[in-house]
Order: sequence, then C-alpha cells, then structure tokens
Amino acid sequence: MWSGRMSVKGLNLGKEYVKLNPKEVLCAEYCPDSKLIEISVKIRNIPGAFTTVIKTLYERKIRLCSGFHTVSREGDTALIGAFIDISHSDVQAKDIVRELESLDEVLEVNVSEKVFNSMIIDSLHFPLLVSGERSFTFRVETFGSIVESLYEKFGTGAAVVLYQMGVSAGEDKARNVLNNYRMDKLDVLRLILAERTAKGWCVAEVEEFNDRGATLTVRELFECLPFKGRKEEAFSQFFRGYLAGIFENILNTSVSVTEVECIAKGDPACKFIVQARG
Ligand SMILES: [Zn+2]
Repeated sequence: MWSGRMSVKGLNLGKEYVKLNPKEVLCAEYCPDSKLIEISVKIRNIPGAFTTVIKTLYERKIRLCSGFHTVSREGDTALIGAFIDISHSDVQAKDIVRELESLDEVLEVNVSEKVFNSMIIDSLHFPLLVSGERSFTFRVETFGSIVESLYEKFGTGAAVVLYQMGVSAGEDKARNVLNNYRMDKLDVLRLILAERTAKGWCVAEVEEFNDRGATLTVRELFECLPFKGRKEEAFSQFFRGYLAGIFENILNTSVSVTEVECIAKGDPACKFIVQARG
C-alpha cells in the first residue's frame, strides 16, 4: 500500500456524490416574532429519555428550535441544549423547569430568558468543546480581515508568518495522530483531512498519494474563501504550511508544498502538490 505510486482517486469516487449539509453550532437566533427561551437539560442516558423531554415540551405547545444533544464522555448522562419557542404555550419558563424536573429521566434543568434586542444568545453553555477539546470559533471573514491587515502591515513577511503558523499546527496535529493511533500513513492523512471537514476548514480529497508526495484538491478552503476571485496568484499560506507540517511527519522527510490552483485566482478549487525534497 505504502511504497510506489498509487492513485487513490478511484477509492474516493463515491465521496463526490455525498451531499454535505451545513452544521450549526448553537449560538444565537433572531426572534422578533416569537418568544424564545433557552433550556439546558441534563438527562439520564437511557432509552426514551430524550423522547420524553421533547414530548413533554410538545404537549405544552412548545416548539423546539435550534439545539444539540450530546452524550457525556462517561456515557451515563446526556445534555440537551436548545432554544425553544413558548409563544404559543400558556406556560412560563418556571413552569417548564418544574415540569421537566419532575421527570424521572431528568437530572438537572437550567433556563435562560435573556434576550438582547430580539436576539437570543446561548448563555447556558461553556466551554465550547469539539471532540472533547476546548475550542473557539472564528468567522471566515474575520480570519480574512486579519490576514489582509497582516499583509498591509508586514508585506510579504506576512506570508512567512502564516506559513510557519500552519507548519506548527500541522506538525502538532500529525504527531498527535501518529502517537495515538496505529494506522497506515495514508489513513493518518485521511483522518486529519476528514477532521478538517468536520471542523469547518474545507473539504479536502487526496487525488494521488505515494512515498514521494501527494496531490490534494481542497474545496471551500476557509483561508482563500474571503479572497475568491480577487487575487492574481494562489493565496494559501497557512494551509500550505499545515500540509507541509503534516507530510513532513508522516513521510519523515522535508517537503515542499505548492498551491497550483486556487479559488482566490478564479479556479474552482484549491489544489496542492506535495513533493518530498532530495
Ligand atoms: Zn487557495
């Protein structure tokens, strides 16, 4: 599997047809015409518990809006966090708390009625965890503005900084995966790239992979997206460095990474060629 030139395009064919739906993180909702409140309900992780809570709300004409359901690491409890619309119900927040607390399946109930200018913001959950790891989110446009101001202040030096930031992040990620999982190097790469999609970075596919390098097609890359069609040349530095950091660890040699196509210069996707040096 590992040595020799190998095209993995055929293995990925099915992937192109998978429809990807967006994933919303519970954060805020604009609600000028409804009465939204927020609930955070800890339940026993037993069959039917989730349904009982939702049914209890529906019986009171409470509409479930955005939310999440997460099982604890230990597996014995689960958390339901949601914005709920009580405008068609005759119950108040305190009644909902009392009613949910009376259920055997429910361990804890918290409610927030805080609304900021017709906008409800999640104020019952912190920290934000992704796969159990403390995380924070950044708007793609915000990242674009930061990159733009870095270039304004430091000229081409900004590219070096961004590239090095990417290398460090890629190295950390690859070491972490290599230390924790025993798997084929191509699978390590696939795992890391699949996680980029889950974390909202991009949708990356390995077109070719061998012990001398790889070719990757990367769609919707957060780094280039704010500059779509606005640049003369390929624009990625951070992700280019990230790939270098990953490949240097999984191939165990220094590599060069070139972005040959880029959405910033009007291509349909960003394309990276990774080549082992020497
Ligand atoms: Zn690009």
